[in-house]
Amino acid sequence: MGVPVRQSMRLGTYLLKQKLAHRDKFPLLVELEPLFACNLACVGCGKIQYPAHILKQRMPVEQAIAAIEEAGAPMVSIAGGEPLIHPEIHVITAELIKRKRFVYLCTNALLMKKKMDKFKPSPYFAWAVHIDGLRERHDQSVYQEGVFVEAVEAVKEAKRRGFRVTTNTTFFNTDTPQTVRDVLDYLNDDLQVDQMMISPAYAYEKAPDQEHFLGVEETRELFRKAFGDGNRKRWRLNHSPLFLDFLEGKVDYQCTAWGIPSYSIFGWQRPCYLMSDGYTKTYKELVETTDWSKYGRGRDPRCANCMAHCGYEPSAVLATMDNLKESLRAFAGR
Ligand code: SF4
Ligand code: SF4
Repeated sequence: MGVPVRQSMRLGTYLLKQKLAHRDKFPLLVELEPLFACNLACVGCGKIQYPAHILKQRMPVEQAIAAIEEAGAPMVSIAGGEPLIHPEIHVITAELIKRKRFVYLCTNALLMKKKMDKFKPSPYFAWAVHIDGLRERHDQSVYQEGVFVEAVEAVKEAKRRGFRVTTNTTFFNTDTPQTVRDVLDYLNDDLQVDQMMISPAYAYEKAPDQEHFLGVEETRELFRKAFGDGNRKRWRLNHSPLFLDFLEGKVDYQCTAWGIPSYSIFGWQRPCYLMSDGYTKTYKELVETTDWSKYGRGRDPRCANCMAHCGYEPSAVLATMDNLKESLRAFAGR
C-alpha cells in the first residue's frame, strides 16, 4: 500500500485551494511536538537536551488541536520526544482524526504494544516507527540493546491489528549504500511496512555527537548508489519523486521551511524544527514575521548541509504541482 488515494486526493485539493486563494505560504504538514521527554537517548537527537523542567512539560489537548486548526494543514506528524509518553496522546490523535487530519504518530516503539489498545485503525492514521538500521546498527544508534527487536515486534502486532504502519530511517555518514539497502530491503520486503521515510541526519546544535552527519555531496552519493538497480522504484518510499531526485542530486531547490512548520510547547518554531530562532504564538505570525529569504543552503551557515524533508519536501511538492508531467509521475508513485 502506497500513500492512500484518499490522502493524495485530499492533498491535491488542498494545494489547488491554496493556489486559487493566491495564498503563497501555507503548511502541508505540521510537526507537532507535544513534549520533549523521551525514553531513549539517541546519538543525533536535538530534543532531549532540554533542562528537566522543560522535559516535564506536556502540551494540553486543546492547545494542540487549536494550533493545528489555526494552521489548517491536512497532515500532522506527531513527534517529540516520545509521543507515547504523553498521557493524552491518544486523545490528541483521536481529535485530529475526527477533524479529518491525516496523522502520523512517530514513535521509537518501546511503548507501542502497551498503548496500542488506545488507538484504532483508520484511513487517517499511521504509525511511523523509528528504525535506523538492522539490529546491531539500530541498537547502536539508540544506545540501547533490544530496541530493534521491540520495534519489529510492535510493527508486526500493529499490522496484525490492521493499522497502517510506516517507518522513519535517519542515515549518518557511517552508513554506506549497502547499509541503506539492507535496512530498506528488510522494511520493504520482509517486514512489509506500508511506506518508508528516509532522512539524512541534520547536525542539531544541541546534538551530543557532531561528527557523524552527512554533507550534501555525501548525501547525494549515498542515495544515488543506494537507489540504483531499480531499488528506488521497488521501495515504497513515502516521498514525492522530485524529493527523491533532490536527494540523489538530480535537481536542487531552495528551502521552503514554512511548508512543514513545527509547533511545540514553546509555540511555532522559527524557521523549522531543526533550528530555533525564536517562537511565535500563531502560524500566521510565524509566516508573516519570519524573513524566509535568510534561510536555506547558501544563505545561513547552519543550513549548509541540510537536505531534510521539512525544508525540501514542500519545495518538491510545489514543483510537482507546477508541472503536469511531474504531477502524473507523483500520482504513479515514481
Ligand atoms: S527516539 Fe527520537 S526523541 Fe527519543 S532520543 Fe531518539 S531521536 Fe530523540
Ligand atoms: S535548510 Fe531549511 S529546513 Fe534545513 S535547517 Fe535550514 S531552514 Fe531548516
